[in-house]
Amino acid sequence: MVPIVSGMAMGPAYQFRKLSFTVNELDYPIESIKAEIDRFRLACHKTLTLLSKTKELSSAVYDDQFLEIFESQIALLDDDIFLSEIEAHIRDKKSSAAMAVFTVFREKMDYFMGLKNEYFRERAMDIQDLKNKILHAIFGVGTEYQISVPSVIFADYLSPSDTVHFNRNLILGFVTDTGGRTSHAAIVARSLNLPYVINNQTLSKIVQADDFIILDAHAGHVIINPTEKTIGSYKKLKKKYTHIVLELKKESGLPTVTRDGIPIEIAANVEFLNELAEAQSCGAQGIGLFRTEGIFLEKEGLPDEEEQYHVYRRASEELKDQTVIIRSLDAGGDKILKELDHPVEQNPFLGWRAIRFCLDEREIFKTQLRAILRANINNNLKLMLPMVSSLREIQETKSVLDEVRLALKQEKIPFNPKIDLGIMIEIPSAALMSDVVAREVDFISFGTNDLTQYTLAVDRTNQKIAKYFNDLHPAVLRLMQLTIKNARALKKEISICGEMAANQEAIPILLGLGLRKLSMSPNAIPRIKKIIRMLNAAECEKFANRVVTLPSESEIQQEAKKFIEKTIANEDLLI
Ligand code: PEP
Ligand code: MG
Repeated sequence: MVPIVSGMAMGPAYQFRKLSFTVNELDYPIESIKAEIDRFRLACHKTLTLLSKTKELSSAVYDDQFLEIFESQIALLDDDIFLSEIEAHIRDKKSSAAMAVFTVFREKMDYFMGLKNEYFRERAMDIQDLKNKILHAIFGVGTEYQISVPSVIFADYLSPSDTVHFNRNLILGFVTDTGGRTSHAAIVARSLNLPYVINNQTLSKIVQADDFIILDAHAGHVIINPTEKTIGSYKKLKKKYTHIVLELKKESGLPTVTRDGIPIEIAANVEFLNELAEAQSCGAQGIGLFRTEGIFLEKEGLPDEEEQYHVYRRASEELKDQTVIIRSLDAGGDKILKELDHPVEQNPFLGWRAIRFCLDEREIFKTQLRAILRANINNNLKLMLPMVSSLREIQETKSVLDEVRLALKQEKIPFNPKIDLGIMIEIPSAALMSDVVAREVDFISFGTNDLTQYTLAVDRTNQKIAKYFNDLHPAVLRLMQLTIKNARALKKEISICGEMAANQEAIPILLGLGLRKLSMSPNAIPRIKKIIRMLNAAECEKFANRVVTLPSESEIQQEAKKFIEKTIANEDLLI
């Protein structure tokens, strides 16, 4: 069991199953043809009832365009010719109801997908959706994202878009079978402040809908149907953790200065506007990373310029006297936006992602840049590019920015032409070329989640190889050391916004390498601030210079652990 986002929760389990099934699941052995045909008819009946209800509930909220989708799905379920095609498939092929639905729907979808007309291609998606609904009815599992009471969500895997589609008020925490500490689903869970553990087994299949769960994401325990006594002792533990969090928060407004007087700036990573207040209450000095994918993942369709403008403008207004670093869209990898018709890639993390995607999808990029320049009236926004691998991407972005400025000017739309441009150092090539790329920009920030992934060739979402993912690896630290040296020589601001900044064991090394600005999820801030106040920067420097020369990550890890344990040895709040 691996704790990913610390915290505790108690409540019923909710088994989240994606609307997709493996061939083995579909092709189950059948008892009789009649039973399968009955099963199919019952599933159609259930789906029809569900659709009629959804349509009724939706009519007050949605446009006709959405209602049409339900209507066309209902019409298909009423189409005797189509239904008898599926029944014939069950009869002729002696197939399971699920396999027959899958096959016949697939043929229909392929037909629509092959048509040139955009309207018909879109209908293929509605057909796919209907197929999934019928399959769900056949297997008797609920549809995704429908929680009725506050629950602990169990899933085999969660994508970032899954995490944002649940009703946040009803999620107590997450337990997944697979995933990674720096996967984007984990990051979203962290930003929503929801306890999260990865179990490395198949708990999502074992747990039952009415099981009562204790999720202890501090220690990494999941207890299914505990005794009254266990519930009692966990209630006490929960109270203790809540007390610690509150006490640390009380001190979070104090200055963050090391024992030898070096001030350290602590900013927050956020993805949703409602996190800004939380960031402030945790003592954040601005936003070091505003991930903009949430704006895209949260809604159906792409957000337009106005929608984005309002989000960035509100961030700028709410943090008037502080800086907000807005990162341009980091789509791709594990953050696939359905609306963008992203192709399936062999290696999505090495693929069409982030700045590569934006430079190809110019209109999407320009819309975002226009919204940011317009929102920067207070002059407190900065723009940061993710996944830069070479100089070319920076230069191209600058020319896109110039085009956007010119267009806004010609359209006489108010905007601020000035904006600081920064890049994330997430790819080893950018770190190795930092003396060159840093010249082109105003600031740089380490994205150590990706820098570690790409330096060590470890997929950050794959729990099976998680033991290889270590941001204290000497190769990662050496790349950071080189980049900091180059940035300092060029007098460029350098910071870190990867999850490493919230890892207490890494803090002495980060300060020791020369970082003076760290950005992290808001809930980590009070704790990290307290730790920094206990450190001596000169000692950290000596320590960092020594550990980067060590040959292995395990030795560095051990040293880092010893160092921090000694530092916080007598501190109750930092257990
Ligand atoms: C990183 O890679 O460290 C980072 C901060 O970006 P993200 O986690 O969103 O990829
Ligand atoms: Mg990244």
